Amino acid sequence: MSAFWCELAWTGERVESNVVVETDGERIAQASAGIAEPPPGSTRLAGLVIPGFANAHSHAFQRALRGRAQTERGTFWTWRDRMYELAEALDPDNYRELATATFGEMALAGITTVGEFHYLHHDRGGAAYEDSNSMGRAMIEAAAAAGIRITLIDACYLHGGIGVAPEGVQRRFADADAGEWVRRVSELDEPDGVRVGAAIHSVRAVDPASAALVADWARERERPLHAHVSEQPAENEACLDAYGATPTAILADAGAVDARFVAVHATHLAGSDFELLGDGGTTCCLCPTTERDLADGIGRGRLLADAGARLALGSDSHAVVDSFEEARAVELDERLAAGERGRHSPSDLLRSATANGHTALGWPEAGRIEAGALCDLVAVDLDGVRLAGTDRTDPVPAVVFGATAADVTDVVVGGRQVVADRRHLSLDVPRALRDSIEALP
Ligand SMILES: [Zn+2]
Repeated sequence: MSAFWCELAWTGERVESNVVVETDGERIAQASAGIAEPPPGSTRLAGLVIPGFANAHSHAFQRALRGRAQTERGTFWTWRDRMYELAEALDPDNYRELATATFGEMALAGITTVGEFHYLHHDRGGAAYEDSNSMGRAMIEAAAAAGIRITLIDACYLHGGIGVAPEGVQRRFADADAGEWVRRVSELDEPDGVRVGAAIHSVRAVDPASAALVADWARERERPLHAHVSEQPAENEACLDAYGATPTAILADAGAVDARFVAVHATHLAGSDFELLGDGGTTCCLCPTTERDLADGIGRGRLLADAGARLALGSDSHAVVDSFEEARAVELDERLAAGERGRHSPSDLLRSATANGHTALGWPEAGRIEAGALCDLVAVDLDGVRLAGTDRTDPVPAVVFGATAADVTDVVVGGRQVVADRRHLSLDVPRALRDSIEALP
């Protein structure tokens, strides 16, 4: 058993002072407020301690595009060509190195669980590796090396577009059919800190009958099921042309839309889609910093929440890795579109980044500081240049609207300290990023 003493802690519901968190293995045994003196042997965490962030939508390799594919004129589709060139250069070894570095950056930013939406499965030309899960296992090893938990959201990808065979690098994403996807994914095991989820890449890449098979697999095994949904108007148009229904409606018909479903982006929804997603008790994972970067559009977080959906957050392409920025962007970007302020409370935004994200990744026992929860603690410095002067009786608004990932000083994942004094304890993250990115062709 070990103990952490928190100057201030946001439990997921409220802020308490002088909180002692005692651990029992990876769980919190007890969290007690009002203990002014840190107990002997406890680790002191200054500032505001919050539960760990869940990064509910990540493509780890896209970290290598930061600053390299952000400046040219174009659209989502021209950006995708750059992303495809990068994907073509990866193999299990350099993919593991790059993902380890990216997950290290996430650890430093207070992310304790990543949802890796994984679709780069096969060797060049599309042939299976000897172990057909080599690339997925590289992601699992990378998360372990970075000291964070992972949900490997293994994506079924079959078509290059509706009715179009995969071509070029898309052949590396594609399984022969949904049955092959089931066979491959069923071979993945779940060591400590790992869970496996399912994904329907998108209605572009998976036909409705195959989507139903993936949904069946997720339902039978009680796994999270994610899908890219209506990120771009062109996806909606192609779907309406082919099937006469929206992507959300197609997925609902396939039996995908229920409480385990996570609609990623959900940017360009029709009116009836809000109802389907809300009534299904789904989570919608917004990725505002990527959606900005790719000129996708502004998510309708308020309407989704009003309809009954939970919101979660992802850094997706990793244009930045900063869960504070994702959280406030849900509110601030929507202000620009709506001409109205105060659409989401700071606590709701923080819950999107923590508990809701963990639930979306199949870790409902994480994201709160209370007995029984996984012991994930993230200390945010309140005395640095950005947050000095914060009202210590009500620090959440300042943290949500003013903190950056650089204000995270200490990170505990499942009772184990991974970051101390802004340093990763087992990884030189800047060096790992530089080396892994510079090694790419
Ligand atoms: Zn994505």
